[in-house]
Amino acid sequence: MSLTHTLQTGEHEIIVITDGGAEFNHELFPGTDAAHIDNLLASANTKTIKTNFNAFIVKSPNRTLLVDAGPRDLMGADCGKLPDGLTEAGIHPDDITHLMLTHLHPDHIAGAVTPENSAVFKNATVLINEDELAFWSRPTAFDEQMMEDWRQLAQAVMSAYGEQVQTFAGDADLGSGVSAISLPGHTPGHCGFRVDDGNASFVMATDIVHAPVLQLADPEIGIVFDIDAEQARQTRKKTLAMIASDQLIFSGGHMVEPKLATLSAAGTGYSLESI
Ligand SMILES: [Zn+2]
Repeated sequence: MSLTHTLQTGEHEIIVITDGGAEFNHELFPGTDAAHIDNLLASANTKTIKTNFNAFIVKSPNRTLLVDAGPRDLMGADCGKLPDGLTEAGIHPDDITHLMLTHLHPDHIAGAVTPENSAVFKNATVLINEDELAFWSRPTAFDEQMMEDWRQLAQAVMSAYGEQVQTFAGDADLGSGVSAISLPGHTPGHCGFRVDDGNASFVMATDIVHAPVLQLADPEIGIVFDIDAEQARQTRKKTLAMIASDQLIFSGGHMVEPKLATLSAAGTGYSLESI
């Protein structure tokens, strides 16, 4: 099965690379009734809450930008396919000139380093939101073990890239027609990106949605991994509304199928139309 979906827009080639997939259980959506989840699954004719892990390539005339690097071997044998996806797209890791990390959760950054913590994309300038880098750069341990494990991985990735790391703020221009979009809540400096070229605009909204079957149908639903659940909820609702009303081409860090779609208002949420 193909690991890549490509969108050509103006002089940009945007490639969604599927690193792998997993299934979520009901307990990951605190504050949401199991019966409500079951109803949404039944409406979609499925019994499982599927997720994918996606990385993105934005090729422009002078550079090859990779956005996120997948979970490598941290999420089981069904993940870690980014290297195969890059090969399928005809891209060698050394061809990556820029690596944007949307946030420093392990399922987005582990693939940027080897299991021995050396850089995979040796030639890449690494772009990270300044609030995100500050949050995970704290010198003291988190009380919660999961957060502490994540902090240590984030710091290992930063050390692997050293002087190649550059920070940006807010909705920064990242060059070559790519802009960051600040999407705070999931993590303090969580962001996506957009590409405006020709007559199309594309938005990759990262982790405002982890489980499309639930959270597009009901954007009130949050996931346990949202650090500030209320801010994440407001960001999700506002961003999905903007994507629908502006008729942008949408993708995300955890979209399943379709990977590239427009959104239309439907009931309490949105339906996807593949493009
Ligand atoms: Zn994620």
